Amino acid sequence: MAPPSLKAGVDMNAKRKTINTPVSISGIGLHSGIYTTVELKPAAPGSGVTFVRADLDGLRIAALQASTTALDYATTVGKDDVSVGTVEHLLSALMASGITDVDIHIDGPEVPIVDGSALPFMHLIDAAGVRELGTEVPMLRLREPIEVVEGDKFIRMTPSNHLVLKYKIDFDHPVIGKQSYQFDYAEDNFLRKIAPARTFGFVRDVEKMHAAGLARGGSVENCIVLGDDDVMNGPLRFRDEFVRHKILDLLGDLALIGRPITGEITASRAGHALHSRFVAKVLAAAAEAEQDMSEAAPTEPAFA
Ligand SMILES: [Zn+2]
Repeated sequence: MAPPSLKAGVDMNAKRKTINTPVSISGIGLHSGIYTTVELKPAAPGSGVTFVRADLDGLRIAALQASTTALDYATTVGKDDVSVGTVEHLLSALMASGITDVDIHIDGPEVPIVDGSALPFMHLIDAAGVRELGTEVPMLRLREPIEVVEGDKFIRMTPSNHLVLKYKIDFDHPVIGKQSYQFDYAEDNFLRKIAPARTFGFVRDVEKMHAAGLARGGSVENCIVLGDDDVMNGPLRFRDEFVRHKILDLLGDLALIGRPITGEITASRAGHALHSRFVAKVLAAAAEAEQDMSEAAPTEPAFA
């Protein structure tokens, strides 16, 4: 049965949530190779998800699309010359946990990669506990489809009252090949199905990435390492771990919208750069829809 379509002006709301108590985790950054400690702290309702550079006078960087500064191989947010890299796995865990307000203190430039998945962050959030804040946030539900295309890659979203993520990948590698996966945010278990899926890299790209200052902290401990035709540090956690990780990444990048969203999103062969273009287009469409709503509303009160 198709979900009922919403009438204009009807909001679906989600409860704002934060964590109960501060919790921290330390580790090496995948790209920088720099060791950092992240401490999650409860935050006030409406303050949003914010990175706080504890080593730089508490400089605050909102975890929002407007803050993104780099998108090659990982998502980076920044302000002025200061940035925090590889935010997507942590943001994915926060989004999956419904956390809308939290301060993420960090004493360096990159979130620890830990084991390359979102599982350590899910355990961290579980240890902190999650609590409702007593105020609500309206879900973003667009009424028109949205699409971004780049050659044979695309992401499209059709209106829905649920958040459903579908991903397809096609890698010229015998272990990956074609994979597809569908994750229903309301029905499926993120902790079990998506959170354990690790990031992956190819040995053939390592020299190029090192030369570009990337993957300096990468190792067999924190990503699936692919040789020419095999996994060098097996076993995999899922046969289709690769496409599950892409869903993990997409959810993390969707967190940069800054509020919960519903829609049926299909991504094909995309990555952080296209995720980001998609999020930008969603935000532009949302701003336009809100503009239309306010123009359609009477400028004078109906009963003066
Ligand atoms: Zn990732």
